[in-house]
Amino acid sequence: MKQKIVILGAGESGIGTAILAMQKEYDVFVSDKGKISKKYKDVLLNNSIAFEEGKHSETKILQADLVVKSPGIPDKVVLIQKLKANDINVISEIEFASNFTDAIIVGITGSNGKTTTTLMLSHILKKAKLNFGTAGNIGDSFALQVASSNKDLYVLELSSFQLDGIQKFHPHIAIITNISPDHLDRYEYKYEKYIDAKFRITKNQTQEDYLIYDADDVEIKHWLLKNKVQAELVPFALSARNAVFTKNTITKGAYIENNEIKIEIDKNIFTMGIADLALQGKHNVKNTMASSMAARLLKVRKETIRQSMSDFEGVEHRLENVLKINGVQYINDSKATNINSTYYALDSIKTPTVWIVGGVDKGNDYDQLLPLVNEKVKAIVCLGEDNQKIIETFQNVIPLIVETKGASEAVKVAYKIAEKGDTVLLSPACASFDLFENYEDRGRQFKEAVRAL
Ligand code: ADP
Repeated sequence: MKQKIVILGAGESGIGTAILAMQKEYDVFVSDKGKISKKYKDVLLNNSIAFEEGKHSETKILQADLVVKSPGIPDKVVLIQKLKANDINVISEIEFASNFTDAIIVGITGSNGKTTTTLMLSHILKKAKLNFGTAGNIGDSFALQVASSNKDLYVLELSSFQLDGIQKFHPHIAIITNISPDHLDRYEYKYEKYIDAKFRITKNQTQEDYLIYDADDVEIKHWLLKNKVQAELVPFALSARNAVFTKNTITKGAYIENNEIKIEIDKNIFTMGIADLALQGKHNVKNTMASSMAARLLKVRKETIRQSMSDFEGVEHRLENVLKINGVQYINDSKATNINSTYYALDSIKTPTVWIVGGVDKGNDYDQLLPLVNEKVKAIVCLGEDNQKIIETFQNVIPLIVETKGASEAVKVAYKIAEKGDTVLLSPACASFDLFENYEDRGRQFKEAVRAL
């Protein structure tokens, strides 16, 4: 008898899982409570995969031997609770697909910098001509790639939701870029639970594996003091060598010396001047350290890494330079949807700044930005339905705060305020759903408005 697999959610990861499960001769049923997009429905039809949309047929779903759940579905929904009560195993696409590949896996998680670090590492591996795939939130799903190609190596961007659904998933190299509060609604508003979810990335690692992490990050440091990790620790920090090599079990790490990044993985120390990095800003120094350390562990040549870091073009909506108009630089950082990412954006800017901020706030504590705002921001342009908290926090330090309700209006106001040598920065620290479809839409509208000036 074929094993019955039910796939909940017909998005990129669900469809990839369905294809892989068919190939592995499961009895496959895909169920999506919403409408399935045409692109994915065509794939289901072309492969004769059974599916339903607009509902979850509970009786049928409860007959499954195995359920693969989309990371978008929270554990607390009734159907998932029922599956668990019936002892039906519920896993994520990442867990399912990893059972069918022997490739080496690099898993990248963290609150901010996952995509950037994933793409940086992929850029290096491409130059090194390795046979690898990039998946997670990027491009084709991991499951689809496992079904359709035979790679030696995968670089996976992993959200905490994907990690919630793992059991045996075992990356050879795990990276935790940093941890700051995000998505707490999915973790009963308990920050510890969100932190634990991130650290699941290392739970199946052994002494032959590596955990790369930001040693400047207080939450990471704190967790590592309280919990034991099997993997070899490979820390990085924006500080001197002795802040990284804190005990004799740590023999690999990255640090800063004389404005250079130094990476010690073996005796052959990698060095690169910070000024030579294509992407500037402290957070990108960190992302560079994390991705370059992983590349060194994978035995990529130093020269290849150095070249990759000097010509990496960056990622859309992440501190993306749009245009310079009348000596004013316009920057699109629409992906900054929490305080921490906006902190690094403001930190990286050297000129007086007109800051466009606001949207749907996921429980922000704006006070953390006060010192940077005080130092760099000359005016605030609010871009959200409800800007009360922003106004209350900053009205005593910023003389000019203007409320706007659209990208074009925000850009026009910023244009009027900014003077030669200034920067106009869209770094909202908030989600975008009040005025935009998503952060990409917000970023695109911002760029169009800048180009139309
Ligand atoms: P993620 O995939 O984790 O959401 P991204 O690479 O898409 O991360 O970046 C999200 C936002 O965070 C962007 O505004 C980016 O400029 C900023 N960012 C990138 N790397 C870091 C980092 N290491 N620490 C803090 N913020 C970062």
